[in-house]
Amino acid sequence: MSLFQESQNARRSISAIRSMQEDLARLTALQNGADIPVQPEPPEPELSTIQLVALLRMAGPHATICRGVADHLQSEPQDRPSARDYAALKDFDLCEVPEGERWHKLTPPGRVLAHTLAARKAKELSLHIFVEGMTERKYKQFFCACGHWRGGFYRSSTGEMNAYAKWCAHVERATEKA
Ligand SMILES: [Zn+2]
Repeated sequence: MSLFQESQNARRSISAIRSMQEDLARLTALQNGADIPVQPEPPEPELSTIQLVALLRMAGPHATICRGVADHLQSEPQDRPSARDYAALKDFDLCEVPEGERWHKLTPPGRVLAHTLAARKAKELSLHIFVEGMTERKYKQFFCACGHWRGGFYRSSTGEMNAYAKWCAHVERATEKA
């Protein structure tokens, strides 16, 4: 591990300890019956469509909803995010270029925002995207990003095919109605 990485790690653990100390102080105050002022949420940054596409693409190929919404928004593949768009996202602390790496990566708040905005856009635009959800013992959840279909199926290849067939029927019904 390089000296730089070590100092980065050390800094990270210090900030983790600090935030634990803050939590503890808050908890103690709460037990003592103090009124805790609620931290206001920072306002959501306003992103242009292409900046949103850049944000969603950074969530990676396995972020199904992010990918689906980005594909929908970027109807012309030549409309690529520019260096200026990435700089804007960086100013909002949504992404960074890790030391020694070439590409921008989402920061933790950037990742949360990407998933939040993707889920919201998919519902707003009624985008039908087949998504695998949580797994619970024998069952696996599947849902549609539009918000109008979900189901639990057996965790097996037949279960998955069944889920996909049910989802296709949902998309057909929804497109007929529209
Ligand atoms: Zn749907």
